[in-house]
Amino acid sequence: MTLPGPIDPPARLLMGPGPISAYPSVLRAMSAPLVGQYDPFMTQAMAETQQLYREVWATGNDATLLIDGTSRAGIEAAIVSLVRPGDRVLVPVFGRFGHLLAEIAERALAEVHTIETAWGQVFTPSAIEEAIVRVKPTLLALVQGDTSTTMNQPLDEIGAICARHGVLFYSDATASLGGNPFEADAWGLDAATAGLQKCLGGPSGSAPITLSPRAVEVVRSRSRVEAGIREEGDAAASDFVRSNYFDLGMILDYWGPRRLNHHTEATSMLYAARECARVLLGEGRDAVIARHRLAGDAMLAGVEALGLTVFGDVAHKMANVVAVEIPEGVPGDVARAALLDDFGIEIGTSFGPLHGRVWRIGTMGYNARKDAVLTTLAALESVLRRFGAAVPVGGGVEAARDVFAGAPA
Ligand SMILES: *Cc1c(COP(=O)(O)O)cnc(C)c1O
Repeated sequence: MTLPGPIDPPARLLMGPGPISAYPSVLRAMSAPLVGQYDPFMTQAMAETQQLYREVWATGNDATLLIDGTSRAGIEAAIVSLVRPGDRVLVPVFGRFGHLLAEIAERALAEVHTIETAWGQVFTPSAIEEAIVRVKPTLLALVQGDTSTTMNQPLDEIGAICARHGVLFYSDATASLGGNPFEADAWGLDAATAGLQKCLGGPSGSAPITLSPRAVEVVRSRSRVEAGIREEGDAAASDFVRSNYFDLGMILDYWGPRRLNHHTEATSMLYAARECARVLLGEGRDAVIARHRLAGDAMLAGVEALGLTVFGDVAHKMANVVAVEIPEGVPGDVARAALLDDFGIEIGTSFGPLHGRVWRIGTMGYNARKDAVLTTLAALESVLRRFGAAVPVGGGVEAARDVFAGAPA
C-alpha cells in the first residue's frame, strides 16, 4: 500500500446543526500529554470537570460526570440504567431525536408510549400532563432542543408536573445545552444528558450527564456492586442493568471517591470536556447564551432578508439553529456541495419529512460569531444566485450586521 500522509483536513467552517468547529483551546487541550487513570492529576481533573459541569447544568447534583462516547452514549446510559424491563416510559416526540429516545427505551424492554406533535411545533405542558395521567409512566423522556426541527421544547413547567405524578424526568439536552437556558435543579430534572459537538464547542465523543438523588437511588438499587455480585440464578438478578458499559451504578463508583475500576477514562476527551466547560464558564453562562441568541437572531434576520422561508414555530426555535426552505428550482444537495467546495462552509441537510425540503444552518459554540454568520450569509447569497434564485444583493449580510450593530455592547 502507499502510506497515506499525516491527517491534514481542509479548512472548514462548520455551520450545520452539529458537529461544529471546536474552540481552538479545546483542540489544544486534547493534545495535552496523557496520564494514568489513577494518577492523582487525573483524579483531580475528573473532580474539576464534575464541578465545572455542575455549573453548566445549574445543579447541585453530586452525580454529575461524563459518559465516554457520543451523546447517544449518555442517552443510552440514562435510559438503560433508569428503566426496568416492563416499566412504562412516555416519550413526547416532536422530531427525530424523540424517536431515538423511544427506540432506546424499547431496547431496554420498556413499555413505550409516545405522543406526537407536528414537526416544527412543541408540546404544551398540559398536553404532556394529560398523557402522564393516561399512561402513568415511571419515566418521562423528553428532548429539549431537537435539531431535526430546530424546536426548543419548554421544560420549565414539566418537572413540577412529573413530581406531582411521581414520574422521573429525563431530558436529552444535547443540541441545546450551553446555547439556550437550562436549569437542571430549578426545572426539576432527574436526569439530563448532552454532548460536546453542539453549543459546548467541542468534538463529539463525550457525554456530560447529571442525575438527581432520586435518579441515583434508582440506579443504585439496580447495581450489581451494591448487591455484592449475587449468586447465579438469583431471582433478583433480573433487575440488574442489562449493560456493563452503561451501568450508571458502576460508572458512579468509578467517578466517586472509591474510584472503582470500570472502563479506562477517555483521557483526551476528558480534557476536551473540561475545556469546553471552562471556556463557557470563563465567558459566563448567561453571556454565552446571549451570544448564541444574538448570532441566531442575526442568522434568522439574514436568511429572511435573502427571501428564504423559515421552517417551524419561530417563537420556539432554538437560538443556535435555523431551518430554511430550499427555494423552488434550487437543487438542494448540489447547492450545499457548492457551498462546501467554493467556500469551505458546511450547512446541514434534513431528515424524515423534511428531507430535501429544508437546509439547517447552525450558529453554535465557537461559531456563534459575527464573522462566521456574515461569511456564511455572503456565501449563501452567492450560491443561491448561481442556482437561479432571485436574491437581493447584500441583503442577508446587511440585515445580520444590523442585528449585531443593535446589540448592547
Ligand atoms: C445532535 C443530537 C444528538 C447526537 O447524538 P450523537 O450520539 O452525539 O451523534 C443527540 N440528541 C440530540 C437532541 C441531538 O440534537
